[in-house]
Amino acid sequence: MADATTALNGGVLQRRQVVTALPGPRSEALQVGRDRALPRGLGKVLPIFVERAGGGIIVDVDGNHLIDFASGIAVTSVGASAPAVVDAVSEQVARFTHTCFLVTEYESYVEVAQRLNELTPGDHAKTTALFSTGSEAIENAVKIARVATGRSGVITFDDAFHGRGLFTLAMTAKEVPYKRGFGPFSDQVHRAPFPNPLRWPAGAEKAAEEALAALRSLLAEVGPDTIAAIVVEPIQGEGGFVVPAPGFLPGLVEIAAEHGIVLIADEIQAGIARTGQWFACDHEGVVPDLIVTAKALAGGLPLAAVTGRAEIMDAADPGALGGTYAGNPLACAAALATLRTIEEADLIAAARRIEEVVRDELQPLVGEGGPVVDLRGRGAMMAVELVRPGTTEPDPGAAATVAKRCHEQGVVVLVSGTQGNVLRLLPPLVIGEDLLREGLRVIVDAIEDI
Ligand SMILES: *Cc1c(COP(=O)(O)O)cnc(C)c1O
Repeated sequence: MADATTALNGGVLQRRQVVTALPGPRSEALQVGRDRALPRGLGKVLPIFVERAGGGIIVDVDGNHLIDFASGIAVTSVGASAPAVVDAVSEQVARFTHTCFLVTEYESYVEVAQRLNELTPGDHAKTTALFSTGSEAIENAVKIARVATGRSGVITFDDAFHGRGLFTLAMTAKEVPYKRGFGPFSDQVHRAPFPNPLRWPAGAEKAAEEALAALRSLLAEVGPDTIAAIVVEPIQGEGGFVVPAPGFLPGLVEIAAEHGIVLIADEIQAGIARTGQWFACDHEGVVPDLIVTAKALAGGLPLAAVTGRAEIMDAADPGALGGTYAGNPLACAAALATLRTIEEADLIAAARRIEEVVRDELQPLVGEGGPVVDLRGRGAMMAVELVRPGTTEPDPGAAATVAKRCHEQGVVVLVSGTQGNVLRLLPPLVIGEDLLREGLRVIVDAIEDI
């Protein structure tokens, strides 16, 4: 793991320092203008305004140094001011900001595609199309699967999150806050059970087998020849960092192949080194037909990609894919620097080390009739699930209390899960071990206090 003196932190002092109440007076003053200028629908996790950020630290406008366990929702894996990213973007912005790749082309777009074709699972012929957001890339993956199969149905899973677009909202499971009032949604989206080992009624051992059987029943009901795509998060993100029971993902590959369905892996949150492999699919040797990446791909700049089997990708006619900003040159320069940084600093190993440290600090909290029923995840994508002590009943109030305590102590954590009872940890992969342990101890104290 990178230590506190690493050159990757953009010159930001790698130390937690809380010098005002949180939020501090300048953040509070800015909040007033924010609330007047912006609609209520834009949520806020922690109402502080940021001055700079780098490594494992976010510095706010009051001078507080907060430990970052969010990475802007799994985006700044290389840190929020990684020198290679800053240099690449600065160099690019001075030459040109935009041409639209569909009008006149630039090399970096092609290089990003080549890198993703190499890095993604499987050694078949692949191509990549770039987009700007995860939701946009998911919708394009579905478009490609539809035109390739001549079918329209899409299968997604319980607790899935695939974005906030009007089609991806149909794919996303959680009603409040994402969907309520925004319908009607496409009736071409079907939902199958996801084998959550902790909560599967017949127990973890039965989860994969029974979830696959339920999927087969659903296919029999709707007709497999109506289904273009099965879309799955190999580790669920917003759903609470649920790692599906072993065997489920390989089972999906088999079922999809059997029925000529395109298997789409949504690796927007789990992909690009986060879980201690390049992709979460790699943990079980799973090769999807299409794989969608975004969040960590470009070190904080907006970039998303659909990568997959060349013959499926080629089903869309010339001009049918793309977008004005899709594959913007600043984002492509940032992506190349990000992927190079991950390799040069061996951030895949860093992600694995983060898992070891998180387990070392948090495992003692699990079980024994306490509020922590589960510590799970892979690499630097780890979650703590909170329940009413002695039960398995989700306790969103406890998660909110723990998150609030952490925020007050200068540790930025996020809550997730359909029930809102899962504390999730997404530190930048470049965080120093001392800082990581310090942040984890704040979490331990906050949980012990409830
Ligand atoms: C964040 C996320 C999306 C949506 O990405 P946006 O860039 O917010 O549109 C889709 N799927 C998963 C798994 C995500 O985590």
